[in-house]
Amino acid sequence: VLKGTGSGALPPMLEQYVRMRDEVAEGLPHALLLFQVGDFYETFGEDAERAARLLGLALTHKSSKDFSTPMAGIPLRALDSHVERLLSAGVCVAVADQFEEPGSGLMERKVTQLLTPGTVTEERHLGADENYLAAVATGEGYALALLDVSTGEFRCAAFHTRLALYDELSRCRAREVLLAPELSGNAALLADFQQRFPVMLSPASFDEARSREELAQTLGEVPGSLSSSALVRACGAVLGYARMTQQGQLDMVRRVVRFEPGAHMRLSDAAVRALELFQAHTPQGRTLTDVLCQTRTAGGRRRLRAWLRAPLLDELSIRARLDSVEALTRAPDLRGGVRALLYRAHDLERLAARVATRRAAPREVAALARTLDLLPEAAALLSGQAGLLAGVRERLGALPDVVTRIRAALVDEPPLRLGEGGLIRDGFHAELDTLRAEALGHRAWLAELEASERIRTGIGNLKVGFTGVFGYYLEVTGPHLSKVPADYRQIATLKDRARFTRPDLREREREIARLEAAAGRLELEVFTELRASLAAHAEALSEAAGALSELDVLSALAEVAAEAGWIRPETTGGDLRLTQARHPVVERSLGGRFVPNDVTLDERGRLVLLTGPNMAGKSTYLRTAALCALLHQIGSFVPADGAALPVYDAIHTRIGASDDLAGGRSTFMVEMSELAAILHGATARSLVILDEIGRGTSTLDGLAIAQAALEHLHGAGAHTLFATHYFELTRLEGEWPGLRNLHVAAEEDAAGSGGLTFYHQVVPGAARQSYGVEVARLAGLPGPVTTRAARLLAALSTQGDDTRLLRELGALDLGRLTPLQALELLHRWQREA
Ligand code: ADP
Repeated sequence: VLKGTGSGALPPMLEQYVRMRDEVAEGLPHALLLFQVGDFYETFGEDAERAARLLGLALTHKSSKDFSTPMAGIPLRALDSHVERLLSAGVCVAVADQFEEPGSGLMERKVTQLLTPGTVTEERHLGADENYLAAVATGEGYALALLDVSTGEFRCAAFHTRLALYDELSRCRAREVLLAPELSGNAALLADFQQRFPVMLSPASFDEARSREELAQTLGEVPGSLSSSALVRACGAVLGYARMTQQGQLDMVRRVVRFEPGAHMRLSDAAVRALELFQAHTPQGRTLTDVLCQTRTAGGRRRLRAWLRAPLLDELSIRARLDSVEALTRAPDLRGGVRALLYRAHDLERLAARVATRRAAPREVAALARTLDLLPEAAALLSGQAGLLAGVRERLGALPDVVTRIRAALVDEPPLRLGEGGLIRDGFHAELDTLRAEALGHRAWLAELEASERIRTGIGNLKVGFTGVFGYYLEVTGPHLSKVPADYRQIATLKDRARFTRPDLREREREIARLEAAAGRLELEVFTELRASLAAHAEALSEAAGALSELDVLSALAEVAAEAGWIRPETTGGDLRLTQARHPVVERSLGGRFVPNDVTLDERGRLVLLTGPNMAGKSTYLRTAALCALLHQIGSFVPADGAALPVYDAIHTRIGASDDLAGGRSTFMVEMSELAAILHGATARSLVILDEIGRGTSTLDGLAIAQAALEHLHGAGAHTLFATHYFELTRLEGEWPGLRNLHVAAEEDAAGSGGLTFYHQVVPGAARQSYGVEVARLAGLPGPVTTRAARLLAALSTQGDDTRLLRELGALDLGRLTPLQALELLHRWQREA
């Protein structure tokens, strides 16, 4: 651990450090141990070099007579900010604090915190969003366990394919992934995981027997839903690991929910990115979450994100959400009332988890009380509501005695930390009241002492003061020193004055200190008891927290719908019909200048080929359709004047050129593997959005691949929107039933000007040409280059015609062609040439 110089034995403190670091390394082999030495947290040896590099610290040396090792430290008060940086760099941290051990030479030290990116619970290290620790094991397929220690949310699922697992893992943005040995032991697999996720090679135990014990200890049993040994092991591994980092305390976890990946719409990671659900493509860009996030609480925001990650498949559940959103859009007063109330709520999910683990600080308990205070009000607002809102109301209404208990016990504004006193309300605890009253009596005596001593001694400016070192004292200035009575004992002499004490003053002082210490201890006891009694309600608390989050999302969706003029979508058995639909995010940024468009996908047009110049709005049109489908299935209103949509089993997208530079794969390779996944996965109930397939290769290759892919999707019956530059494809209309050509209107400006006007209007039929050259001119390509390009294009287009002609010729069945038909063909070819 310590590569030092010199042969001497380690100094005792470093010995202690090495011992502690070895202990930490058993659970977290790569953790950095921050070891308190006085006012600093120090690191030594290799760790010091690592810390210096990661945190930009100055490297010094810890040297004794015949030993020297690198050392780097951070001041105690800078701990949080440095831990923050380490965690976001994916480094685990152990903090060892020192405790005074009077008499002995060596300070006693203890590891007080183990912090890892996926298990931190302190609010200051967490964003408001969910924070998942994940574990993956294999058996038949893959088992995944996900735990958010900050809220106690615990879920697991089995996946048939690694791709499906990857999708889930990236959707939930696991901050720390534990891999079972059968995965981490396979170098290729491990590399694949590590490329995508923050994988921790910590020796979490995936042993089945230990996992069963862990589950039984945490949940009271091994739930029947964990039907495979892989599921048991994955769940056991996250729990075991989380328990280690939480110093054995896992009471916030009460149940595991087994979810079926197939129970929700499949939304590949590519689709999540392409549709900019959570992350925009550009730093200034906005996301769907930004538009929808009218939530007022952190829990609501997390819930909304969860809904977006897992759109519904069940028509009834979709309708239930829509019903509630509609009810809230129709009742602005109710919505306003609910939202005003939510605005005052704290993060109840996390508070509930902190209470369950008995870690909540006084202020957190007070915040809990303030939030719980709101629940009856919220429930009252919702009275008379049906459906989900009625369910919310029920779950909110179950907790009154908890609130009154906290309210009765705790002062309104408790101190930051335990042990500062002034925590428990007067009148709550008789013994505490007595102690306080006695202390108060002594203080009153002290307060009167000044006046009474002035009279007794005749010293008009005698003062009673207090310092931390001397305690209470009587102060007399120089001219009056002669009048000091005999019972005063001098304790300090200053330039022009002196300070005195008196035996009875000392006595009172000791008494006050004793009473206050006793009161402090008692307060702590009362508080701990209160917290424990709250922990007993943890289940109901987290129920209420969940209900509050749900209410927040529903009212946020209603707010967005009402503000932006969205409408309630209708669910159909198969067709999609959107009239005057808008892209929710682009519309926001364009204000009134957005041009709405209709989208129809039905029997007569299940497959739409969309052509038009660059920048005309093809991609926006495609995404509009996909986003409306997604919004419908999370139970939201949609940005359109009319909307009827089927329930899609998946939204597949292949949009734009996303480079996988880290993966070292070419753009074309990425495009093809994404296309492969789509073609394998698309069913007659899927929505497929393809933007420019085949661009990464030669035109003919690209065209061939694009057409073959389209044929496949046509065969599968998926609803497909395909934006393309390949005008050759538009000729398929009429040949394939169910294929429809659309294009985005654009118009060349006055002849020769080379300008182009975009209308962003989608209209029937194929575009006349691609206008690529015009767009290039608009973008500022030099005149001679675009002129030359236009000429080349003309030449290439005739070549295109030639190939088409040859293809048609090749396909002719001469044996069955009548002379008249042959003549007609020749005639047509001549006309087209
Ligand atoms: P394409 O895919 O055809 O190259 P995009 O969909 O990327 O075009 O749109 C290009 C730009 O045109 C967008 O950034 C947007 O500002 C604007 N735009 C697209 N669709 C519309 C619309 N329906 N109404 C108004 N502006 C639009």
